[in-house]
Amino acid sequence: MKNRIGVMGGTFDPIHYGHLVLAEQVRSELSLDRIIFVPAGIPPHKKELSISNNIHRHFMTVLATIDNPNFIVSDIEVHAQKVSYTIDTLHRLKELYGNDHSIFFITGADAILDIESWKDSKTLLKTFKFIAGTRPGHQNDDLERKISLLKKQYDADIHLLEVPALAISSTDIRNRVGMGKSIKYLIPEAVEQYIYKNRLYERGVSGE
Ligand code: NAP
Repeated sequence: MKNRIGVMGGTFDPIHYGHLVLAEQVRSELSLDRIIFVPAGIPPHKKELSISNNIHRHFMTVLATIDNPNFIVSDIEVHAQKVSYTIDTLHRLKELYGNDHSIFFITGADAILDIESWKDSKTLLKTFKFIAGTRPGHQNDDLERKISLLKKQYDADIHLLEVPALAISSTDIRNRVGMGKSIKYLIPEAVEQYIYKNRLYERGVSGE
């Protein structure tokens, strides 16, 4: 049987328990051998936005995953110094791990809605399997319509997984820090300490 790896893509600004619960649920439900977290380098759709620097997002992801032997972090995108496209990242990981690996790309459900605008989306959808985490109470009608269309058009393999812990969001955490509110129990303690030590998200701005 092929080895099965999950690739967890996201900006992770910052990583939180919703991401970690999603990754662990996918790993256990799909019997994946490991999950590789890939903090996005310069996300293609966020070239103009201010996000925390790559090194901070990479370190926070390492701290958050350090106690799980099945989770590893790749710096493939954060060190790229150019816009990162998922198709390039997944091909590179396939080269590194070998063709005997099945790759499942895991991310937030919103990504699926505009995935056809991504680089080489047709190849992406035909070659890799997708798991999309949805938040509780998320209205899934548009998403389900989109997924059945993508299945018909590209023979895409996409699964939705509702994760209650995804009620946590990175935007909310950044805002809470900016307003001086507690973020305890929303993220691993080491990540919380890292945020305060490096004064990230103060006054609502991203860490430089
Ligand atoms: P985003 O716009 O920051 O996030 C969209 C939504 O999805 C947010 O609600 C976010 O919640 C959630 N989300 C993001 N990553 C998640 C994850 N791994 N698990 C659960 N929820 C997640 O999306 P993004 O993080 O920049 O992009 C997601 C992935 O798609 C990245 O790997 C990115 O490189 C890739 N992407 C590729 C292309 C392309 O190749 N052209 C274009 C767009 C995106 P939180 O804020 O709480 O995480």
